[in-house]
Order: sequence, then structure tokens, then C-alpha cells
Amino acid sequence: MVKLNGRVAIVTGGSRGIGAAIAKELAANGVKVVINYNSNNEAADAVVQEIEQAGGEAFAAQADVSDAAQARVLVEETINKYGKLDILVNNAGITRDRTFRKITEDDWNQVIQVNLNSVYNMTTAALSHIQESDAGRIINISSIIGQAGGFGQTNYSAAKAGMIGFTKSLALELAKSGTTVNAICPGFIDTEMVQAIPDEIRAQIVAKIPARRFGMPEEIARGVLYLCRDGEYITGQQLNINGGLYM
Ligand code: NAP
Repeated sequence: MVKLNGRVAIVTGGSRGIGAAIAKELAANGVKVVINYNSNNEAADAVVQEIEQAGGEAFAAQADVSDAAQARVLVEETINKYGKLDILVNNAGITRDRTFRKITEDDWNQVIQVNLNSVYNMTTAALSHIQESDAGRIINISSIIGQAGGFGQTNYSAAKAGMIGFTKSLALELAKSGTTVNAICPGFIDTEMVQAIPDEIRAQIVAKIPARRFGMPEEIARGVLYLCRDGEYITGQQLNINGGLYM
């Protein structure tokens, strides 16, 4: 088991939903957490406040991680503040759902840029620091949609499947160094992203989930904690947290 107290993590998109739950779980276990966000500084500040009130350490850092220069600055800010980096959670993501006939070039490019190219931007900026850690962790929040596909989600599915390929290849390259690289593939998790789906479709989705409910962000966060604390010999894997929807 890895001692997490005093380690440093960046959680991209840590201000809301799954990312906020991950940030809180890591902080509750002694990790200093950089809460990255893109536009909603109030949400990010609220997460920092909650962590501090619980006795943890965190700060909020604005950066559009789809932009390579901003990703580099985010890593620099982290090093300036905490002096090191052990854990990178690539969680920031967006959807622009439309059937393929209706999808625009902009819908395609934005989703690839934010969900997939951000993973390259952040990992390339962070890697040399993470490799200095004796328990480096890169955790990519992919999706069941990257494994099973999703109606109206060619762009999102391509990005999320791309994250899985990236995870396996980088895991191979880094395995000897002790840095692990894994993906978590959530099913449908009750966040604003899923709350935006029309009620009728949400009911149809729940009916298909063997567990008969949406997952909670905290259930993804516990998966991240497990990989960080107990995952020394786990690398290149996809951890499915989906209520049995895809096996
Ligand atoms: P969410 O509630 O919509 O939150 C998205 C987060 O990403 C926010 O903190 C947002 O910050 C941030 N973000 C968006 N674009 C960004 C950018 N360019 N740079 C930096 N941060 C950015 O989403 P969620 O449901 O928690 O999803 C989190 C991750 O899990 C995503 O990658 C998503 O694809 C994946 N996932 C979600 C589900 C699900 O059912 N919810 C299932 C499978 C996978 P701002 O508010 O400041 O923009």
C-alpha cells in the first residue's frame, strides 16, 4: 500500500461532478490537490473550501487543458506551489452529442480537443515530474462509450476509445519506471453531464443498467483512490465502474 499523505495531485475538471468527487476523496486521504477548471471559478472555489474545512489542502487553478500552453502553465503552477507532482487525473471532458449526419466539424474537433488532446497536453507537461515520484500515477477518466459506442456520440466515443489506447501504450513505456497508467471507464454517473439528458431517455438508460440506477461520482472517486493507494502492480488497465452495463 502506498502512503498518500503529502502527495500532490492535479485533477483536471476538478470543480464539478466526477472530478470534484475525486479531488475530495484524494484530499481526505492526505493528498494536496490542484483543482483545475475552465470557466466556473465559483464551483472550483467551493470544492477548495470544502476540502479546507475538512482539514485538507487544495487550490483552484484555471486552465483550458485543451490548450497545450495553458496545460504547461498549470503544471508549472503546481510545481511552484507544492514542489512536486505524484498523481495526474485526466478527467476534464465535454460532450457535443449529435448523430453523425448532423455532427459539425466544430462538434468533432472540440470534443477531440477537450477529451483527448488534453490528455496529451497534460501528460507531456507533467511526465518528467511524475517520474520523479516513487509512486507516479496517471489516471485517465475514459467512458463506457469508448468501449461500447453510444448513439449520437461518434466524436465522444472516438475520444474516449483514444484515451484507452493511449493508456495501454504509455503504460508499456513507463511500467519499468514504477509509474502506472490506467483508465477508469465509468458507466452513467449522476452528474450535470447526465442530468442534461432528457428524462425520457434517462429512464430508458436506467432500465438497461443491471444495477438499475446511475452511479455516483463518489463511486468513481473510490476507484481512483484504489489505483493510487493499492495499485502498484496495476497498469495499462481499464477499471469499469458501470453497474454491470458493460462487461
Ligand atoms: P461535468 O459535470 O460536466 O464536469 C466537467 C468538468 O470538466 C468541469 O469541472 C469543467 O470545468 C471541466 N472542463 C470542461 N472543459 C474543460 C477544459 N477545456 N479545461 C479544463 N476543464 C474543463 O462532467 P462529469 O460528468 O463530471 O464528467 C467528468 C469526466 O468523466 C469527463 O471526462 C466525462 O467524459 C467522463 N465521464 C462521465 C460520465 C457520466 O456519466 N457523467 C460517464 C463516463 C465518463 P468548468 O465547469 O469550469 O468548465
